[in-house]
Amino acid sequence: MRIMITVGLIAVSIMACSQNENKVSEDKQPKNVCHFDDEEWKEKLTEEEYRVLREKGTEPAWSGKFNHHKEKGVYTCSGCGDTLFTSREKYNSGSGWPSFYDVYKAGKVKESIDESHGMTRVEITCANCGGHLGHKFEDGPMPTGSRYCVNSVSLGFIKKKE
Ligand code: FE
Repeated sequence: MRIMITVGLIAVSIMACSQNENKVSEDKQPKNVCHFDDEEWKEKLTEEEYRVLREKGTEPAWSGKFNHHKEKGVYTCSGCGDTLFTSREKYNSGSGWPSFYDVYKAGKVKESIDESHGMTRVEITCANCGGHLGHKFEDGPMPTGSRYCVNSVSLGFIKKKE
C-alpha cells in the first residue's frame, strides 16, 4: 500500500512538472519550477542520468547516442521532459558532444558561472528542473556564435512526424 501511495505521488509530481511549462518566464532567468528530492530523482533516473543531471557529471566525448544524430525533431530534458533544443539548430562541432547554436526558446536553458576544474565556464541547466546539461561556449557558428555543448545523457528525442 505504501509503495502504491509513493508511486502515485511520484506520478502526480511528474504530471505537475510537465504542466509547469507555461509558468516559466521567458524574459528573465527563471527559477526551477520542477522539484523532486534526491530520493525521488534516484528512483526516476538511471544511474548515468543521475550522475550527469544531478551531480554535474560529463559523459565521455564521442560516447553519446546523440552526437551524430541527424533526425528531425526536438530534444527534451531527460529529467523532466521539457523541450530544450531542436534539430534545426544542431550542428557538428567536432567536439564529441551534441552541439546546438541556439536553444528551442528563450528561458528554457539557464546559464550560470561554473568555476570547477580550474576553469571559468558557463554551465547550462534545464530551467524547469535544474538538471545539468553541459556548458556554453562562444565559438559556435552564426547567427548566434554560441555552442551549447550538451551531454546526450541529459537529452531525450522526439522525432518529427513526417
Ligand atoms: Fe529538466
